[in-house]
Amino acid sequence: MNTITVKFGGTSLASAAQIQKAAAIIQADPARRYVVASAPGKRTKEDIKVTDLLYRCFNEAEDGEDFTGTLTKIHDRFADIIRELGVDFDLEGEIAVLKSHLEHKPSPDYMASRGEYMNSKIIAAYLGYTFIDAAEVIFFQENGALDEQRTYQTLSMRLMGEERAVVPGFYGSLPDGTIHTFSRGGSDVTGAIVARASASSLYENWTDVSGMLSADPRIVENPRVIDYITYTELRELSYMGASVLHEDAVFPVRKAGIPINIRNTNAPEDPGTMIVASLPAVTGRRTVTGIAGKKGFSSIHIEKSMMNSEVGFVAKLLKIFADEGLSFEHCPSGIDTISIVINTASFTPHRDAILHRIRQDLEPDVVAVEDGLALIAVVGQGMVYSKGTAAKIFAALAGSGVNIRMIDQGSSELNIIISVDELDFETSLRGIYHAMEGLMK
Ligand code: ASP
Repeated sequence: MNTITVKFGGTSLASAAQIQKAAAIIQADPARRYVVASAPGKRTKEDIKVTDLLYRCFNEAEDGEDFTGTLTKIHDRFADIIRELGVDFDLEGEIAVLKSHLEHKPSPDYMASRGEYMNSKIIAAYLGYTFIDAAEVIFFQENGALDEQRTYQTLSMRLMGEERAVVPGFYGSLPDGTIHTFSRGGSDVTGAIVARASASSLYENWTDVSGMLSADPRIVENPRVIDYITYTELRELSYMGASVLHEDAVFPVRKAGIPINIRNTNAPEDPGTMIVASLPAVTGRRTVTGIAGKKGFSSIHIEKSMMNSEVGFVAKLLKIFADEGLSFEHCPSGIDTISIVINTASFTPHRDAILHRIRQDLEPDVVAVEDGLALIAVVGQGMVYSKGTAAKIFAALAGSGVNIRMIDQGSSELNIIISVDELDFETSLRGIYHAMEGLMK
């Protein structure tokens, strides 16, 4: 039988009713053998995630404040779930352990991890699956990086012995046995690790949207859901602000060639988005997969006559940024001009030092900084095979009255990056989306 690893996010497990939906999904396919669970998330917009309550509890204890009100809130969230699901779970015992932990030397990671721990135990009891504590199978090195060898060895062995199991997301243990968490949203990473360790044929990531959207829905009305996207395209779009998965969740499954399917717990009939190594034939004629963008960039523009013949000029320029520990986004150049496009927030603290060194080391004719730029990436592996995509983008921007500040097409032709004034960002994104819509099918 093939194996599917399923991960459910916080909103998918925020209440007993949501957990019942998740259970129905799990039981609908016998291949869904391994379940990775998040802590209960928000039930409504105004609600507070259990993980946030746990961090709050830690902070209160650390500051010597009264944490009992917050701990009661956590207790009550789980009490409702247990009562409504009708499972047997020693909540009072677990809360007593938390209280005693908080009264001694509390650790933020230990506290935060208890949301996943308790929710997974409850879900395992409800499903009749084995509970596997992530602390026993997910290992970090001293520096906080995943100890891949130890994790995969231990976890694979453990899963081999379990027909069906629930593993809490988000945490594992350090060499000294204490609890350590991934960064926020890290249950996605645990899901990917479990999928790989169990040699799953598919990693299903169940959330509250029907897949990844081809543009930001706050800017573009009703953008298409992406049916298939490659890992590489996903990386480009995520980098430019499109978020659907924890960044580190791709690496474990990508290495093993396991596709990820983003699905909606509240609409399980929707096919969602498949994240794959290469696009299947059904997407054959599609040119563009998605569009994403971000504001908050600056461009450092440098001019010097005969720059082109000054050997080592660019190397010297880039070394200045490297010496300051800064990475940049783009570096378009002309014969006697070059610009460095960089995130304004990271550039600002180094601004004076960098401009000083550029003047001193490179003796340019002109050096000028322009802030307030936005970058938009049009991403699609199909662009390499088609003609006229750039022309359509530029015509759309001209039609919307937008002045393009920079154009950069990566040599892989996976993306076209356009820089515009921040004030033109939304108009540009909408204009480009509508011009590209036909190429996304
Ligand atoms: N519960 C954790 C968080 O809120 C981890 C997760 O849900 O993935 O960040």
